[in-house]
Amino acid sequence: MRRWLRYISRGLAAILLFGVGVSIVGFCRAPDVPVITLPDSSTRVTEVTGLYPITMDRVAAPRSVDEISRLVAAAPGPISIGGGRYSMGGQTATPDGLQLDLRNFHGVVALDTAVRTITVHSGTRWREVQQAIDPAGLSVQIMQTYNTFTVGGALSVNAHGRYIGQGPVVRSVRAITLVLADGRVVRASPTEHPELFYGAIGGYGALGVIADVTLDLALDTRVQRVDTTLAVADYLAYFRRRVQPDSSVIFHNSDIYPPAYETTHAVSYVRTDLPVTVPERIQPADQASWGHRLAYRVITSGRIGKWLRQHILDPLMFKGHPVTWRNYEASYDVSELEPASRARTTYVLQEYFVPSDSLPVFVPRMRQILQRHHVNAVNVSIRHANADPGTDLAWARTEVFAYVLYYQQGTDAPARTEVGRWTRELIEAAIACGGRYYLPYQPVATRDQFARAYPGAADLFAVKRQVDPTNKFTNTLWDLYEPGPDGRVPDVSAAHMPAVLPGEVRIALDTVAGYQRDEGAEYLTHPEWDLVYTSEAYARWLSALKPPSEFPYVQSVGTFWRSYFATWRASRTRSPAGFGTHLMLGVIGLSTAVEYGLKGLYEETVGRLSEQDAPIDGTAEDRYAATVASQYARLINEKGWYEFSFAHALVHLWTDVPWTGPGILRKWERRLWLSAEYGFKAIYATLIGLGTATAYSPDEAQRYVVVAGWSDSLAVDTAPVHLRRVAWLDRRYALLSVPRYAAFRDALLGLSRDASRVRVAEVSGNEIVTLTGTAPRDWEAPPRSTVVAAYAVPTDRGWMRVVLAVDARDLLDVLAAGTRGRLVVDHIYDY
Ligand SMILES: Cc1cc2nc3c(=O)[nH]c(=O)nc-3n(C[C@H](O)[C@H](O)[C@H](O)COP(=O)(O)OP(=O)(O)OC[C@H]3O[C@@H](n4cnc5c(N)ncnc54)[C@H](O)[C@@H]3O)c2cc1C
Repeated sequence: MRRWLRYISRGLAAILLFGVGVSIVGFCRAPDVPVITLPDSSTRVTEVTGLYPITMDRVAAPRSVDEISRLVAAAPGPISIGGGRYSMGGQTATPDGLQLDLRNFHGVVALDTAVRTITVHSGTRWREVQQAIDPAGLSVQIMQTYNTFTVGGALSVNAHGRYIGQGPVVRSVRAITLVLADGRVVRASPTEHPELFYGAIGGYGALGVIADVTLDLALDTRVQRVDTTLAVADYLAYFRRRVQPDSSVIFHNSDIYPPAYETTHAVSYVRTDLPVTVPERIQPADQASWGHRLAYRVITSGRIGKWLRQHILDPLMFKGHPVTWRNYEASYDVSELEPASRARTTYVLQEYFVPSDSLPVFVPRMRQILQRHHVNAVNVSIRHANADPGTDLAWARTEVFAYVLYYQQGTDAPARTEVGRWTRELIEAAIACGGRYYLPYQPVATRDQFARAYPGAADLFAVKRQVDPTNKFTNTLWDLYEPGPDGRVPDVSAAHMPAVLPGEVRIALDTVAGYQRDEGAEYLTHPEWDLVYTSEAYARWLSALKPPSEFPYVQSVGTFWRSYFATWRASRTRSPAGFGTHLMLGVIGLSTAVEYGLKGLYEETVGRLSEQDAPIDGTAEDRYAATVASQYARLINEKGWYEFSFAHALVHLWTDVPWTGPGILRKWERRLWLSAEYGFKAIYATLIGLGTATAYSPDEAQRYVVVAGWSDSLAVDTAPVHLRRVAWLDRRYALLSVPRYAAFRDALLGLSRDASRVRVAEVSGNEIVTLTGTAPRDWEAPPRSTVVAAYAVPTDRGWMRVVLAVDARDLLDVLAAGTRGRLVVDHIYDY
């Protein structure tokens, strides 16, 4: 018995080694092919989270007011404005528009130390302002916690910081100049064009470009840190008694600890005459360190990490009462928060502004929502703001607490959908308490929530219609929330489809069973499809009566590994597949290598000899093998390979194919060889089939696609039968259903003939689509497509197989351009 076991294990090891050997040789003999990429003048604009990349037609980086004015006057629109690009939801971009990147438009225009004001270009970062005013003993009056943001970006969101006795940044702005849609430059202040002043500040670039900004400054003073830990329930009383009335408190915030959200750590920086314990007046620009990264990793790793933060890390970090300059405490750089990678998970902010007295109502609701959705929060920081003096989009109608939620989320589509769900719940909780949510973050609110939180938007849009009648200035925020001239939000079209689906559409899609599909294995399904293409090529080879001995078996194994390697590399930065997927692909790859390796060996020796005896049109067995190969290739396009009835093929070989005829030697050699092949595969397929049936449930046969610009006549004209409109969604997006695989491909290829009228927004809840096809080796990949893999087709070396990744919104254009350029699409991945 033991001896047998030894023989079996040695046999298996030999087979495995053989498979590995064939794989390595195949990999080397099926090299990658370089693909020419057609020039693409568009530019992809990203923001800090990496969740909202938007392709702009062009980005211009003006350096002067004149240049901004000329660019604005000349561009027909849409125009978006970019500052530091730290807003987190496409607020600086709109698809196919012009972005004015203001980061080069920086510098101090005037500094008046006597009256304590400074005028700067709006692309100036706070750090540069601090460097200019620090020698004069001055400090910024109101800014965010980090000094990395631009002044224009801060004004346009009406930012706030950790200051006590202050509030939104508008309270420190004396005047601005504004470049309007026609290129005119106007000055605005609380008394001069107040409608422009109060519209542009907090207006997210809706009215025009804020060019120069005059700000009030404060005195730089020494501040000492003091802190205490208390129950959240006691915080309001503590704040009212100990913080708010104390005019010496300059900065204050209080971090609520997750996951219980019961305890808060209050930190104040109090004006002092004590000598500084930290001599630097401003912190260095790059504050990224492995220590910070490790701390955030620990905190987001789970409950133990959060416990460690609350009970070990924070007590250590906040030991003592250092004395620093105010400018030092106001000069943190966002690099301190930057993780090593944002590919699979990313850190994101949200903020809710709620009247201070509503803390006892809001915090329990917030806690319940965050806990119910298992939000991986780092902390919720409470800050205070006094009321806004009158901006249209004021977030502080009264005195408020800002609840700043910093958390980690996944970057894949299901994670984003889930974040949308709980964010809408938090928005609802804030509105119910008379509060608002902050707009520089992910735009997942419904229009109704936006309207209830920001009733003053009507005033902003009334001014906008006067100064920007053609709606030149826009971005994702306004693409989603700005009502049309008649107060009705316009329907989307292929030409102007926002970068993000509206909250209303998301909510509707949430109710469609099977809509959202995991994108994890999307790229890595390609290697399996490569085997389908090999089987098709093999069937075509036999049907054309080419000698089986000349089929490129080993190279065909190589293309599997080539595609696996390339798609694995690509998937790592997007949505890496789990161990199970890799195990499955490894098993498939090695068993294919063993099968094709043995087949190659046999066909090139015994098979080649018997071919000498074959008649010109092959034996009946050769023709039968071709028919079975074609049936098999057809089946695996739709189903698992193990569903093919090899037993049936074996029985018919012996019952239907005549036992005698020309080329008797070849006939019997084939008969015995095919019997061995079909017999072995029948047993193997039965075993795999049983395993698969217990491991997986049957997959849905339909997939869903969301499109803009749909009309039901398109289904008749362009993509017959396969596409069915399931529902009209908000703003006349259409939800279509389509059968999987070939029907899916044909439907989208059909639609691509109408790419100017219709545009895809999502496929199965995902924004990136992968497609494969074959093309001549000198084929040029169309703009806006990314070549994930390309390798020569083993049976026709003049052609290559390409794997492309495309944004869903560009899919139809890429298909149209690709097929014009002789791409034969074999598969569009439907998830
Ligand atoms: C780590 C981190 C911490 C943060 N902390 C705070 C905080 O403490 N307090 C706070 O209030 N916010 C905070 N935010 C949010 C941040 O303040 C805003 O996103 C701010 O706008 C970022 O400035 P920016 O220069 O990157 O602006 P961008 O993101 O580039 O632009 C923001 C908006 O302003 C518009 N805009 C930019 N410049 C101009 C201009 N010159 N004229 C007209 N419109 C313009 C853009 O079109 C866009 O709509 C934080 C964000 C991050 C990432």
